[in-house]
Amino acid sequence: MKVLVAGGAGYIGSVTTEMLLDDDHEVVVFDNLERGHRKAIDKRAAFRKGDLRDKDRVFKVMADFKPDAVMHFAAYALVPESMEKPEIYFRNNVVGGVNLVEAMFKADVGKIVFSSTCATYGQPEKVPITEDVAQKPTNPYGESKLAFEKVLNWYHELHGMQTVFLRYFNACGATEKFGEDHDPETHIIPIIMQVALGQRKGVKIFGDDYKTPDGTCLRDYIHIVDLAQAHILALKGNYSGPFNLGTGTGYSVKEVVETAREITGHPIPAKMAPRRPGDPPCLVAGADKARKILKWKPRYGDLKTIIQSAWNWHREHPRGYGK
Ligand code: UDP
Repeated sequence: MKVLVAGGAGYIGSVTTEMLLDDDHEVVVFDNLERGHRKAIDKRAAFRKGDLRDKDRVFKVMADFKPDAVMHFAAYALVPESMEKPEIYFRNNVVGGVNLVEAMFKADVGKIVFSSTCATYGQPEKVPITEDVAQKPTNPYGESKLAFEKVLNWYHELHGMQTVFLRYFNACGATEKFGEDHDPETHIIPIIMQVALGQRKGVKIFGDDYKTPDGTCLRDYIHIVDLAQAHILALKGNYSGPFNLGTGTGYSVKEVVETAREITGHPIPAKMAPRRPGDPPCLVAGADKARKILKWKPRYGDLKTIIQSAWNWHREHPRGYGK
């Protein structure tokens, strides 16, 4: 298939592009390189620089390439930033998304796989979180993703567009070529990798007084290769609607630190720190729907495998993609 990957220079978009190409699809990456990296774009892909907020540019690239399907990863994704600047989240993630889907409609492109998030659930009323749990985001980031899911629902309803939203839990890990490089970095695993590389003194654990087995938050860490695989399955199938992507196992922050100590051989000094505002104690996916319908089977769910792959990449790329 011909696939336009919006945000293909970012973390999850770069790996999905790599796997689409391995699976013999033709890919055009559309990215503004504001937060993504030129070096993260697989050399086998074509590249069109552009910003989703620039409607004329989006329309032009869509009309020129005429893909069979679009994968959409191009969004801002930092919760604390969204609490300070909600407008940039709604403008990029919602208005930019509307430009993309309108351009698809005009160019007669009938299929989109959208990167959504478990942040659309907010503080879930039950765990494991299944797709029918009420969506009540607790920050503008989650709200912007939910708003775009709703836009897509209407394109499905009104125009029969095939619209899939994949709600990721905690994306992590790397392939040999591509890994996680954000600036600023806020995610626990890359922060720990920076400690192991001697670039930070230690890691702060945000809260150890939660009602969880060891007092620290539980998260469902899902390897990006498994996430990318789900995109390819969604592309090939004939589905619309939401799918949660996680392993169904929660690991605590302390377990993540401990596993990283084992893998890296570094002591990873950890200090207890106050809770981070807005952190739900436990986010674990009920992902049976993806397993049953997409026939998705995560293969790299084990925390050691995830951290080993992240460590391999960070050791090879101690400065990420470079500045
Ligand atoms: N966390 C932490 N210290 C850090 C970064 C994150 O203790 O420096 C915790 C965070 O509070 C959460 C978990 O690690 O419980 C995962 O956080 P991350 O930011 O990686 O992903 P999120 O779950 O927020 O999407």
